[in-house]
Amino acid sequence: MELEYIKQILDSAYNIRPHEVGCDDCEEEMNEYADYVLEEKQLDKPLNLIKDHLELCRDCSEEFQSLLEALNSATGKK
Ligand SMILES: [Zn+2]
Repeated sequence: MELEYIKQILDSAYNIRPHEVGCDDCEEEMNEYADYVLEEKQLDKPLNLIKDHLELCRDCSEEFQSLLEALNSATGKK
């Protein structure tokens, strides 16, 4: 019981803001979000959450940057 409680505290410490998407969600949506960024499309709501997550999460934002670079070099854009 107590261990379960401690685990919950640790989990919530890792997910600092519960309303935000997690890293797993972010990774799943990252490709789609990259398309929006590259095409400068209007963001719909779920992707705004991805944007927020990328601003707050260094791991995901680094991953997203390298994804963007890969996509940019693939399409020949700057
Ligand atoms: Zn993340």
